[in-house]
Amino acid sequence: MTTILWFSRDLRLADNPALAAAVSRGQEIIPLFILDDEDAGRWAPGGASRWWLHGSLESVGESLRMRGTDLVLRRGKAEVVIDGIVQQTGATAVYWNRRYEPWAKARNERLKKGLAERGIEAKSFNSALIREPWALKTQNGDPYRVFTPFWKALRTHAIDDAAPPPPRRLAVPETLPDSDALSGWGLRPKRTDWAAGFREAWTPGEKGAQERLRNFVGEAAVKYRDRRNIPGVKGTSGLSPHLHFGEIGPRQIWHTLTSYATREAGDPISAGIETFLSEIAWREFSYHLLYHFPTLPSEPLRQEFRAFPWLNDPVLIGAWQRGMTGYPIVDAGMRELWTTGWMHNRVRMIVASFLIKDLLVDWREGETWFWDTLVDADLASNSASWQWVAGCGADAAPYFRVFNPALQGAKFDPDGLYVRRWVPEVAKLPNSAVHAPWAARPIELSDAAIKLGQDYPLPIVDHAAARQRALAAFQGLKSQ
Ligand SMILES: Cc1cc2nc3c(=O)[nH]c(=O)nc-3n(C[C@H](O)[C@H](O)[C@H](O)COP(=O)(O)OP(=O)(O)OC[C@H]3O[C@@H](n4cnc5c(N)ncnc54)[C@H](O)[C@@H]3O)c2cc1C
Repeated sequence: MTTILWFSRDLRLADNPALAAAVSRGQEIIPLFILDDEDAGRWAPGGASRWWLHGSLESVGESLRMRGTDLVLRRGKAEVVIDGIVQQTGATAVYWNRRYEPWAKARNERLKKGLAERGIEAKSFNSALIREPWALKTQNGDPYRVFTPFWKALRTHAIDDAAPPPPRRLAVPETLPDSDALSGWGLRPKRTDWAAGFREAWTPGEKGAQERLRNFVGEAAVKYRDRRNIPGVKGTSGLSPHLHFGEIGPRQIWHTLTSYATREAGDPISAGIETFLSEIAWREFSYHLLYHFPTLPSEPLRQEFRAFPWLNDPVLIGAWQRGMTGYPIVDAGMRELWTTGWMHNRVRMIVASFLIKDLLVDWREGETWFWDTLVDADLASNSASWQWVAGCGADAAPYFRVFNPALQGAKFDPDGLYVRRWVPEVAKLPNSAVHAPWAARPIELSDAAIKLGQDYPLPIVDHAAARQRALAAFQGLKSQ
């Protein structure tokens, strides 16, 4: 009467409904993780995510060993792997937490049906979301396409219960099935060590996630609304990769923050915490969109954008990827991304707008680069956000809103803290020129020992002209 507990994007032991159900079944448990690249195809995890996954699996393996068992690692098509283990062990149940990527959803439904037909109990649970994507509907019974009413609907569902703690011990079968060695999967870089900055910035795993949350609850959460747009300070939680890999769940975060608010802050919820909860809701909204519009990662939701005349110049795309556009706020973001696997949300919006509107590059190019380089690369949030910036999504920023990178820099990084950190070439320029080195006076450039076009690039496009070009392309689209 063994239960297979299939881990995927729920790499935690606390607040894990599938695990809790497997434990309460009262039988021996086989904890299993499958590297299912073959199933995921185009959306198999990118390089940065693979680095994270390695650490997360180490962490969950260690937690399981402390409870007297171990994590079985297998690679291949999930249906084939699970079938093999069921046959080998005579397991009578398979439990897992749900996924919402279209490929995973289709596969898991097939798997559930196949298992049930053979009399094996197959059950899935919700560990990743506050509300399932199908649970919230507009008054007409349609999916939401606009964030604000979605948020209002979600907000009414209070989460009162504390998350269930991790089980103390897990019953182990006499022998666990064979496991691959994690080191054999090659998830971490082999030749060039591009992940040194990742190690400094992050601690993958459930413990690392809890520590991030602890550091954020309190002053940081209360001041979130004022600081969340300033990339030069640590004003956000940094929980996104932990959430993506399910090392922490949104209900745990929600409950911790709302109980802190009522306990400490006196008033029910401070504006900072309320704003933070609404950001968690953006994640839920992205999952809602992906669930109801499964082509979200690959097709613009607004049909008219299919005919957009993208230029996709490979030289310009390369300059953007390397952080060599000549616009310091854009370059700072792209270098932060390359070094740490993460980028501040405000800067993500700026670099995305720059790629799409200033360089006229198809948003899917940016989506693909982020997919490979972000440690929090998430099919729902990434594709929804790229469509949002491009103006072709469900609740999109209007296409004609084109960020001016110099003005955005001056507004959100007024002291140049952020750009000086990531673009040392411009570090000695005065605040008045640090976001627009091309406009610096010759004396300022020579005092800062910087020769434009040599030490740091001149802008690869002229923003004012690029903006006009983008608007004209958009007008052309509308009149077609
Ligand atoms: C072009 C672009 C691509 C993006 N790609 C991703 C991605 O692949 N994965 C990802 O998790 N986020 C993505 N985001 C959203 C957002 O930038 C990150 O979630 C956020 O920067 C993570 O940092 P944090 O954990 O400190 O966020 P906080 O500000 O502390 O927010 C808390 C949590 O809320 C969620 N959240 C916050 N903002 C958003 C948002 N706009 N959309 C969806 N969820 C949000 C995240 O889970 C985040 O961890 C993208 C945004 C843009 C503009």
